[in-house]
Amino acid sequence: MIAVFPGSFDPMTIGHIALLKRAVKIFDKIIVAVGINTSKECGRNAAPPKDEKLESIRRAVADMPQVEVESYSCLTTDFCRIKGAHVILRGVRDNADFEYERKIADINRLIAPDIETVILLAEPEYATISSSMVRELAAFGHDVTKWLA
Ligand code: ADP
Repeated sequence: MIAVFPGSFDPMTIGHIALLKRAVKIFDKIIVAVGINTSKECGRNAAPPKDEKLESIRRAVADMPQVEVESYSCLTTDFCRIKGAHVILRGVRDNADFEYERKIADINRLIAPDIETVILLAEPEYATISSSMVRELAAFGHDVTKWLA
């Protein structure tokens, strides 16, 4: 079974990698789909991910042969259809994530009932790691290397 793991991965963290390491035991193939989150960036005018970003994500997942990395700029469910994927993989760290993920999953089910969202709960040691936290600490000059994938 093919799963699409969509996200902004801005940047990809060891939390994303930990989730992928568990997900490769469940799915035959996982496509990390690097997209633009229109609620976090400026809508459709946001710049597409740069090649270097895709390459660095590819390097981070190189030891997982079932994982591919691609960028996309359409609806996640349309991307799933193009790729023949029937699963959207997401992660949840806390209640705030849960509410957010449930809303996205509900919308995706409305527009694509044949595509199921599968959510993995973050392991406690990764539950505080988020791309936004890494970005914010980095912006203030803190060394964030240990959280980067
Ligand atoms: P988005 O911008 O769509 O929220 P992200 O790149 O921030 O995308 O995250 C992609 C997915 O990975 C989301 O479902 C998010 O909840 C999940 N995720 C992010 N960090 C972690 C983590 N530390 N542990 C588990 N899941 C995570």
